[in-house]
Amino acid sequence: MGNLEGRAALVTGGSRGIGRAICLELAREGARVAVNYNTNAAAACEVVSLIKEAGGEAVAIAGDVSNADAAAALVRGAVEAFGGLDILVNNAGITRDRLLMRMSENDWDEVQNTNLRGTFLVTKAAMRPLLRSQAGRIIMITSVIGVMGNPGQANYAAAKAGIIGFTRAVAREVASRAITVNAVAPGFIETDIIAPMSPEAIKAAMGLIPLERMAKPDEVAPLVAFLAGDGARYITGQCIHVDGGMVMA
Ligand code: NDP
Repeated sequence: MGNLEGRAALVTGGSRGIGRAICLELAREGARVAVNYNTNAAAACEVVSLIKEAGGEAVAIAGDVSNADAAAALVRGAVEAFGGLDILVNNAGITRDRLLMRMSENDWDEVQNTNLRGTFLVTKAAMRPLLRSQAGRIIMITSVIGVMGNPGQANYAAAKAGIIGFTRAVAREVASRAITVNAVAPGFIETDIIAPMSPEAIKAAMGLIPLERMAKPDEVAPLVAFLAGDGARYITGQCIHVDGGMVMA
């Protein structure tokens, strides 16, 4: 029996990359998983099929996390599908990289809206069902960039640093209800999000990684599953790095 048997989970941006790996890992541990996506229905349905083929339970739920009505609706969809919610993973995220001098207001706003506002909206909408759970868990996917910064990513670094502050504030707010709130900070993970990076930028990034390689999404997912389980019940308000040693603190 898995560690998350019977738990109901919602993963934003579960259709691709790290979110996809998290959905598959939570399902392997026995959770029923709502796989949220924004535009890529086919990819989300593939994740649902993989979970079902392995004997698990999953649904795909469309919804743009940056839209308040959509955020509330996708949480409602997960609760209706599974009769409650125990685990929320705020994973949906985008980049719009540009040096600050060339960064448009739109580049700034899109990244804040999806990464930070989306995290706020979905977490707020999920609070009531999570309060009803006996083991509520909120896990945010932030980034090493929110801690150490990166040229060309001022918008992204600000949003990801904001997520860490949000994590700590909400952790203190809901601790008396035994809900834990933690952040996971991946380093460089091989997904579509790094596709726009130039070979030079990738080479520079590699030079910052003591373990001398990028990671696969399934090297981030096990930490998320651990934080979602009973073994992590005394861990809250933390930001834990999965970054090959890029940040050591
Ligand atoms: P991908 O680009 O591979 O996947 C992004 C996912 O987010 C997709 O499922 C996408 O849905 C979804 N998404 C995007 N915008 C929205 C939105 N407005 N509403 C709902 N879902 C949305 O990215 P990664 O897997 O690499 O990134 C996942 C998270 O991990 C992000 O928060 C990212 O910042 C973070 N991260 C990634 C790192 C990396 O090196 N890859 C490093 C550190 C952090 P759809 O398929 O419908 O487009």
